[in-house]
Amino acid sequence: MEPPDIERLDERTVQRIAAGEVVERPASVVKELVENSLDAGASRVAVSVEAGGTEGIRVRDDGVGIPEDQLEAAVAEHATSKIGDIEDLDRGVATLGFRGEALYTVGAVSRLTVRSRPPEAEAGAEITVAGGDVGEARPAGCPAGTTVEVDDLFYNTPAREKFLKRTATEFDHVNTVVTGYALANPDVAVSLEHDGRETFATEGNGDLRSAVLAVYGREVAESMIDVEWTPEGTDAGDDSADAPVRRVTGLVSHPETTRSTRDYLSTYVNGRYVTASTLREATLEAYGGQLAPDRYPFAVLFVEVPAGDVDVNVHPRKLEVRFDEEPAVREAVEAAVEGALLDHGLIRSTAPRG
Ligand code: ADP
Ligand code: MG
Repeated sequence: MEPPDIERLDERTVQRIAAGEVVERPASVVKELVENSLDAGASRVAVSVEAGGTEGIRVRDDGVGIPEDQLEAAVAEHATSKIGDIEDLDRGVATLGFRGEALYTVGAVSRLTVRSRPPEAEAGAEITVAGGDVGEARPAGCPAGTTVEVDDLFYNTPAREKFLKRTATEFDHVNTVVTGYALANPDVAVSLEHDGRETFATEGNGDLRSAVLAVYGREVAESMIDVEWTPEGTDAGDDSADAPVRRVTGLVSHPETTRSTRDYLSTYVNGRYVTASTLREATLEAYGGQLAPDRYPFAVLFVEVPAGDVDVNVHPRKLEVRFDEEPAVREAVEAAVEGALLDHGLIRSTAPRG
């Protein structure tokens, strides 16, 4: 057999393949858009989706906005306002995004509209992208802030469209993502709507318990107990402390307030929403034998570690993290949750640890 020719793929094909790496399903689009709103300093983020997000996604915020002459750059490849060069990256990024590829890739596989008005601007403007074709920015009336609309996700990538699950399943994923950000940002009013019906809306008053109430309801909120842990001999939030874990705070539920999945164990590292099996396992471990078989508690736990000790950028789509000091993190989280449960007499004291 003749060896086949090796040919360079055309730009469009490259674009679609790359898009598939970032945008897997509606929830991944929602994640990117909500992160952009939070990075824009929004105090309100309203998410609404149609048919689990497969037919429409809209995220509206009251953040800094995008000036008309920047709209084209916002949807362009590798264009970001968040970092300038590799040194910025090495210093550590404070924003949730920095790759400058989310709007570009979403625009490659959907019909995307970005409408925005910086609060001080007199008029707003919008730009549309359809399957990678970028239109021209033009004036559009809109409130201060940014609204991003994504319609017909994957309409031009049938292979990807085929892998979408039932509407209810896609919405579950969207709900998990929006809940994750709502709990991480109790000072931001986050709301979620599905097919015109409100799923939840947090007040944005800065109180975590109030956010939990909005998202999970009264029964859960009332069963939550406070977690507050710092390494021995340090003050809370003391940045000079060189302990591998500086602080563990948040809320965990009474051992009898449980669900049949681990989906309600929300964990955050340095303010970022992450899924780390280390953190989940340590939390469960702390409950000892108090959980019924195959039952899992609710938890909203914030872990603070030195910025250099955690890699949060393993993959753009995934929420995984890697810790330099994994065993220390595990121990701190377990001790934090155990301490809270012990204080409330919800578990029996075990042999002294250490
Ligand atoms: P990144 O977030 O990695 O910078 P994106 O493609 O998500 O890349 O966004 C590109 C740029 O568009 C951002 O850097 C920001 O300047 C602007 N932008 C996107 N969404 C918003 C928003 N909701 N409010 C203000 N600016 C935004
Ligand atoms: Mg972004």
